[in-house]
Amino acid sequence: MLPLSFDVFRSAGFRFGLPVCLALSTLFLLEYAQYTLVTYQALLFTLPYVLFALVVLLSQPFNQGRTGLTALLMGVAYYFIQNYLQAPLSNNETKLIYVLLSALLPLNLLQIHILPDKRLHSRFGGYYLLFIVMQIAWSALVVNHFSHSDLDWLWDSYLFAIPSFSPMPIVLFLLSIAITLSSASTILKRNLGSDQTVFVSLLFSCMTFVLFQFSFISSTAFSIAALILLLNLVTCSHELAFVDQLTGIPGRRALETELKHLGRTYTLAMLDVDHFKKFNDTYGHKTGDDVLKLVAQIMKNTKGGAQVFRYGGEEFTIMYKGKEANECKAFLDDLRQEIAAYDLIIRDHSTRPDNAKKGEKMRKKEEKNNSTNVTVSIGIADSFPDHNPDNVLKAADQALYKAKQKGRNRVML
Ligand code: GH3
Ligand code: MG
Ligand code: MG
Repeated sequence: MLPLSFDVFRSAGFRFGLPVCLALSTLFLLEYAQYTLVTYQALLFTLPYVLFALVVLLSQPFNQGRTGLTALLMGVAYYFIQNYLQAPLSNNETKLIYVLLSALLPLNLLQIHILPDKRLHSRFGGYYLLFIVMQIAWSALVVNHFSHSDLDWLWDSYLFAIPSFSPMPIVLFLLSIAITLSSASTILKRNLGSDQTVFVSLLFSCMTFVLFQFSFISSTAFSIAALILLLNLVTCSHELAFVDQLTGIPGRRALETELKHLGRTYTLAMLDVDHFKKFNDTYGHKTGDDVLKLVAQIMKNTKGGAQVFRYGGEEFTIMYKGKEANECKAFLDDLRQEIAAYDLIIRDHSTRPDNAKKGEKMRKKEEKNNSTNVTVSIGIADSFPDHNPDNVLKAADQALYKAKQKGRNRVML
C-alpha cells in the first residue's frame, strides 16, 4: 500500500491545510510553551540552521531547485533575525533592518513561484546567489545611510504601526497577507510540490514578523517551516520515483514494489488501448496524451478495490488483492464499457482560444463535429495455480493478446 498512501501528502488540501493547522497551533501554544522552550533554548536556536542546510543539500540530488532556493532564503533571513534583530525595535538601525527584511523576504519568496526549477549548483543558482548578495549589500547601504537620521516622519506617516497589535508597519502587514494569500492560491490552482514550500515559508516568516515581540517566535516558526520543507522534499521525491508524470497514477516502479507484497490470492489484469498508434497518427501525439490521462482517470474509479498502474506506453495494469479472476471480470467489463462509451472531444491544440467565452463557443462547436471514442482490451489472470506474480502478469498479457486477436474491445480470462 506504500505508494498509494502517499497520495494524501500530495493533495492540495493537505499541502495547504497542514501548514495552516501548524501555524494556528503554534499561535495558541506559544504563550504557554515559553517556559519549556527556555530549557531547550540553545537547541532551538541552532535547529533552523541545521534543517535549512539539510534541505538545501538534499534539494540538489532530489532535483528540487525551488525548494533549495526557498530554504536558502529562509536560512539567510533567519541569520539576520538572530544577529541583527535582537535589540529593541525602538533603535532606528534595528527597526530599519526589521522593515527591510520583512518587506524583502516575502517579495523574494513570491518570485520563486515563477522562477525556473533549476538546481542551486548551476549557472542559474550562481546568478541567484549574486542577486541575494546584491540585495544584502543594498540594504546595508540603506541602513548605514539612514540609521543616524531622524526617521520619525517615515515611521509616523508611511510606516506607522499599531504597537498593541504588532510592531510591523500596517502597510507591510497588508503586503505580507496579500503575498501569502496569492501563494496559497497557486497551491490550490496548480499544486506543484514547490508551491507548498514557498507558501509555508511565507506563512511562517510572516507570522514571525507580525508576532516579533514574542520570544522564541523566530526559532520556533522557522524550525516548523524547515520541517515541513523536509517532509515536502521526501514526498516530492517519492512522487518522482513512484508516480507516472503524465497520468498522475502510480507507475511501473510502484507496480514492481506492490508485486513483491502480494498474498496468495490476487488477480492481475493488463489493459491496452486499441489501435492507439492510428489514433496518434490521426489526432496527434498531444491528443494521444490527453486520452491516456483520461483513461487513467476513468480507471481510478474501477470498482472492487482495484489498484491501477501505468505499465508503460498505452498499457496499464490493474491489481486486485484477495480476489480471484472470476470475481473481478464484471468490474473490468464495466470499466471497458465506460471507456468505450466516453465521447472524446477532439481539440485542435494549435488553435486554443485566448478567452473563456470564445473557448466555450468553440467547445460547443467541437462537440458537434469532432467527437470520437477509444476502446480498450483487457486480459485477466489470477494467482491460481501459479503464485509467482511475474508469471501471473505474463498470463494476463497472453489473455490480452487473445482479446486483441478476437477483435479488441473485450475482456478475456
Ligand atoms: P493494438 O490495438 O494492437 O494495441 O494497436 P496499437 O496501435 O495500440 O499498438 P502498438 O503497440 O502498435 O502502438 C502503441 C502506440 O502507443 C505507439 C505509440 O505511438 C503510442 N504511445 C506509447 N506511449 C505513448 C505516450 O505516452 N503518449 C502517446 N501519445 N502515445 C504513446
Ligand atoms: Mg501496446
Ligand atoms: Mg494498443
